[in-house]
Amino acid sequence: MEEKIKGGISSCLLGNRVRYDGGHKRDRYITDVLAEYFHFVPVCPEVECGLPVPRETMHLEGLPEQPRLVTTKTKVDQTARMQKFCMEKVRELENENLCAFIFKKDSPSSGLHRVKIYGDSGQAQKKGRGLFASAVVRRFPLLPVEEEGRLHDARLRENFLERIYCYNRWHSFLKNGPDYKKLVQFHTRHKLQLMSHSPKHLAKMGRLVAAGKERPREELLAQYEALLMEAMALKATVKKNVNVLHHIMGHFKTFLTADEKRELLEVIDNYARSIVPLVVPLTLVGHYVRKYEVSYLQDQAYLEPHPAELMLRNHV
Ligand code: SF4
Repeated sequence: MEEKIKGGISSCLLGNRVRYDGGHKRDRYITDVLAEYFHFVPVCPEVECGLPVPRETMHLEGLPEQPRLVTTKTKVDQTARMQKFCMEKVRELENENLCAFIFKKDSPSSGLHRVKIYGDSGQAQKKGRGLFASAVVRRFPLLPVEEEGRLHDARLRENFLERIYCYNRWHSFLKNGPDYKKLVQFHTRHKLQLMSHSPKHLAKMGRLVAAGKERPREELLAQYEALLMEAMALKATVKKNVNVLHHIMGHFKTFLTADEKRELLEVIDNYARSIVPLVVPLTLVGHYVRKYEVSYLQDQAYLEPHPAELMLRNHV
């Protein structure tokens, strides 16, 4: 069995009773499905910075660039306490080799997107980010991060998990003596996956690798990693996947019978028209890859980007 991937998570999402009211926010998809594949490192910034359970609720106040964390009724400013915790915690997390972080939405400490910030007039704008989530994103800018609420959207979920597994493969590559030859192999293996996210990045990364032999290793790897995660953060749309599927067909051209070609084109067209999900053309492609032993395709991460049991491509 493959080793579980390490991911940070807002503690209440695992069912831990750390919320202001003594409750939790267990997310069943996380605890019942993802937990099979992930080793979660729980963090509750509010409890770990020394606040009790239960406690007074808090919210963000001030400017989106520099919000303050303030208790809602008694108006105690907890910003300094939280920032001190954040500084120490992100330093501690550097040793955890995380490949993801799932945050609790809307929280003034843990929320990642559109957290409410109250201005002087008492009006709230949904433009903020929780203080701990901000600290994590600042310290680990390439780390795949998401909120639990958005994981219920099939496309966002598939994209997030694809990014995580790709980041995990990159980390394994770095751990195993990453020389130039291995970088070429890594890049070759990810070509179709990159094409499904961003053909522009694929071209740019191809040029980077081709000209990279004489460049200082650290510099080359850092640049490649930044482009890799930038590309993977762009969504793989139906149109981009159709382009990749046609590209894959090019590799079969000489092997497929006329009937097989017609069938595959028909299935790709059904996917393009959203009649069937991505898993359908990919299952047929997988069948031909095995039947005709097309070695270049056998090794492509695009065909197996994450465990099939997660069924992520059955819904996109
Ligand atoms: S949202 Fe964050 S701070 Fe609030 S209870 Fe959950 S983990 Fe703790």
